[in-house]
Amino acid sequence: MSYELNEDQRQIQDLVRRVAREKVAPRAAEIDRTGEYPQDMFDLLKALGLFTVPFPAEYGGTGSLLSACVAVEELGRVCYNTGYLLVVQWIPFGAILAGGSGAQQARWLPGLSSGDLRGALSITEPQSGSDVSGIKTTARRGADGYVLNGAKIWCTNAHVADFVLVAARTLDEANTFLGINLFIVGRHAKGLTVGREEDKLGARGVPSCPLFLDDVFVPAGDRLGPESGEGFKITMEALNSSRPIVAARAVGLAQGAIDHAIEFIQNRVAFGQKVSEFQGMRWMLADMVMKTEAARQMVYRAASMADAGTTGREMAQMAAMAKCFASDVAMQVATDAVQMFGAAGISAEYPINRYFRDAKVVQIIEGTNQIQRNIIADSVLGRVKRQPR
Ligand SMILES: Cc1cc2nc3c(=O)[nH]c(=O)nc-3n(C[C@H](O)[C@H](O)[C@H](O)COP(=O)(O)OP(=O)(O)OC[C@H]3O[C@@H](n4cnc5c(N)ncnc54)[C@H](O)[C@@H]3O)c2cc1C
Repeated sequence: MSYELNEDQRQIQDLVRRVAREKVAPRAAEIDRTGEYPQDMFDLLKALGLFTVPFPAEYGGTGSLLSACVAVEELGRVCYNTGYLLVVQWIPFGAILAGGSGAQQARWLPGLSSGDLRGALSITEPQSGSDVSGIKTTARRGADGYVLNGAKIWCTNAHVADFVLVAARTLDEANTFLGINLFIVGRHAKGLTVGREEDKLGARGVPSCPLFLDDVFVPAGDRLGPESGEGFKITMEALNSSRPIVAARAVGLAQGAIDHAIEFIQNRVAFGQKVSEFQGMRWMLADMVMKTEAARQMVYRAASMADAGTTGREMAQMAAMAKCFASDVAMQVATDAVQMFGAAGISAEYPINRYFRDAKVVQIIEGTNQIQRNIIADSVLGRVKRQPR
C-alpha cells in the first residue's frame, strides 16, 4: 500500500508548517509555562478551517486521516498543546459522527466543524482508566430520559466545552444493567460541576478536570446509539481507528526535539570543537532521525489504511502499533535531545525539557502503551480468557 502524500496533503503540510513556524512556535513556551488555555491558538486554527480536516466533504473536510495526521504533526513539532487543540476538537466530532443519530449530527457537527462549539469526552474515573468496564457512573432510566450520578477525572477541555460526552452504566427502572453508553451532557446542565484543573507535567495548555454529576437529567434523545451499549462500542471502535492522529502528534514532537537538538549542538562548543562534531553525538542524532522516520512511516501507513477503508482487527492492530511505537520513539528521542543539551536541557530557559515532559503524556493517553501492546498481542495470539473475579 502506498502512503505517499498526495498534492492536497502536501498543500496542508506546507500551510500548517508555515503557520506553525510563524505564529504558533513563538507562543509555545508561554502556553506551557502558564498552563493557560490558548484561546488565541484556538482562534487561529478556527480561522484556518482545520477543525474539519479528517471529516467528510459535507462538513468541509478532506475525508482523509492522513491529511489530519500531517496537520497535527506540523503543529506538534513546535507546540504540543496547539496540536492537542485540534485533536480534542476532533474526538467528540468523530464520536457523534460514528455513533450519533441524524438529529444529533445535525445539532452538533456543524458547530464543532466551524469551531463555534467545543466538546469533551469523559470516560476515566478515579478507580478505572484503562479498564473501561470498571466505571461506576450510572445513568438510571426515568420517564423522559436518564438521571446521571458519579464522578469523573481527567476530562480534557471540560472547562471550555459546550457539552461533554459522558460514559455511564445504563440501568433500567429495576436497576438492571443494560450496557455502557455515552450521553451528551450540556456543560451547564443542572447538577454538573467541573472541578479544579489538574496541575500537569505535560500537555499543560489544555486543562483536564474532574467532573461531578449529581442527579444530572439527560433527555432520552441525548443518548448516543442503542441503549444496549452497541453505540458505545461503535463509537469506541471509530475512535480507535483514529488513533494514528495521536501517533502523529508523537512524530511531530520527536521531529521538533531533533530540530532543537541540531540547532543546539551546532552552536555549543566543548574541548575546542562544536558538540555536533563528536562521534558520540552524531550517532545519537542519527538514531533519533532514523527512529523518527520509522515512526512517521508507520503512522502514515496506519492513516492510509484507515483512508482506504480498513476496519476491524487489522485496523486496530495497525493503529495500536503506530501509537505505541511513535510515542515510545518520541520519549526516547526527547530524552536523548535533553542529554545533548547537557545542563541546559534541565533548565526552563531552553525549550527541550517541554518536549521531554509532553512525550511522557503521549505514552499514557488514549490507551496506555501497555494497553496498545495488549491489543497487538491479542491480534496475533488471540485474547487470553479472563479468570472469574
Ligand atoms: C493529559 C491527560 C489527558 C487525559 N484526557 C482524558 C479525557 O479527555 N477523557 C478521559 O476519559 N480520560 C482522559 N485521560 C485519562 C487517560 O485516558 C487514562 O489516564 C488512561 O486511560 C490510563 O488510565 P489510568 O490513569 O487510570 O491508569 P491505570 O488504568 O490505573 O493503569 C496504571 C498502570 O497499569 C497499566 N495497566 C493497566 N491495565 C493493564 C493491563 N491490562 N495490562 C498491562 N498493563 C496494564 C497501565 O498501562 C499503567 O501503566 C487523560 C489522561 C491524561 C494524562
